[in-house]
Amino acid sequence: EEKEYDVVVVGAGGAGMIAAIEAKSQGVNVAIIEKNPFVGGNTLVSGGEFNAPNSWVQELMGVEDSVEQYIEDTLSGGDYEGNEELVRIMAENISADGEWLRDYVEVEFIEDYLMHFGGHSVPRAIYPIGGSGIELIQKLERKVHEMEIPLYTKTKANDLIVDENNRVIGVSAENPEGNMINFYGTNGVVLTTGGFGANLEMVQKYNDVIDDRYKSTNQKGATGDGVYMAQEVGADVTDMAFVQTYPTCNPLTGHLSYVADTRFDGAILVNKGGERFVEEMDRRDVISEAILAQEDTFGYLMWDETIRNNSNMDSYLTEFENLEKYGLVVKADTIEEAAAFFEIDAETLKSTIERYNGFVEKGEDEDFQRRGNLAALKEGPYYIQQVTPAIHHTMGGLRINGDAQVISTEGEWIEGLYAAGEVTGGVHGKNRLGGNAISDLIVFGRIAGRNAAQ
Ligand code: ADP
Repeated sequence: EEKEYDVVVVGAGGAGMIAAIEAKSQGVNVAIIEKNPFVGGNTLVSGGEFNAPNSWVQELMGVEDSVEQYIEDTLSGGDYEGNEELVRIMAENISADGEWLRDYVEVEFIEDYLMHFGGHSVPRAIYPIGGSGIELIQKLERKVHEMEIPLYTKTKANDLIVDENNRVIGVSAENPEGNMINFYGTNGVVLTTGGFGANLEMVQKYNDVIDDRYKSTNQKGATGDGVYMAQEVGADVTDMAFVQTYPTCNPLTGHLSYVADTRFDGAILVNKGGERFVEEMDRRDVISEAILAQEDTFGYLMWDETIRNNSNMDSYLTEFENLEKYGLVVKADTIEEAAAFFEIDAETLKSTIERYNGFVEKGEDEDFQRRGNLAALKEGPYYIQQVTPAIHHTMGGLRINGDAQVISTEGEWIEGLYAAGEVTGGVHGKNRLGGNAISDLIVFGRIAGRNAAQ
């Protein structure tokens, strides 16, 4: 079977639906194919927050920021391995593109709240209602339907189709019935297939630190298909060894825990011995390795009622109940009771907290030099949550230029081929800062869609 469009987008996560909407608004015929029975990809299970300097929220809240500071934070967060040209494009466009998402796609954001992720000089992450990617994805999907963009789910792209000049002119795909369908995109094909964080074999091919002690926060479709397909037609890859782990995930499912974001409101991390062992604000990779180095390979995040009340936990009550049901979090009136649930050494834990509360009073963490979010743990009930690290984001992927064009190993654009989102590499360097995945996919999703429509 054959289907003909101007533009074909592969993958219906955040980047893909944004690229399709943008291409369609340029007046061309565009279709999206998605291998899962549902849309959303990793964007759906993400927090949905995105960083933007000088945004409308920062303005309302009186936060001083600049494009240059955001670029500097992003580059330095990635150990200066990121591609400065791409970072600059993201930083210069994200505020306007965020307004486009708000006004054109009608994504709703909390007007007066910004998330301050590690590595950012100021709070700059805009927060969708509900605190998850669900709001983003639901509104994008609604827009896709409204614009009558055909969306083929359960349709897996296998290979790119090229003409005799190696120009990409389509993709061949298959559906569950085993039918092969060729989708032609006369103007271009946009790869937005996401990362490879659900493909441990591929991770290990490039990275020798990560092994099966790590779970994965990724949806199952994140298997690196786009990278393989593009490599078949000569695409270059970059930064493949840079795989980010997230330290505080659900030990049973690997899902990233939003309840554990209490860490950003003051929760401390202890081990079974009742002792702190790492700075809670350290980088994701550092905390992850520190947790795995503990005897039982778990971390125990602890907070009190005051921290709970200052946190966003109300947005995540369903997750909390679920964790409770599986014995992964405990709420108890006293420190002893909470500790007993996980067989944590209560006496040591009590002295750890006493010592830590002393640091909070002095405003200085003498043991681990915690950079921020110092808060005393004084008021019951107390909470302890068991956490483990998981593979979270693959910084590496297809090499693109500022026009979201995929570059070959010869350094030339592979005509007809564009990519955006986690399938690409280069923006985040060695380490992606919180909130930057969504900024990346919004900006480069739009660029890819706009250019593919030409
Ligand atoms: P991004 O954040 O870059 O948008 P996501 O993970 O949110 O990435 O979305 C990627 C989407 O692409 C997922 O929904 C995934 O199932 C889909 N996908 C991955 N590989 C293929 C493929 N071979 N064919 C079709 N869809 C794919």
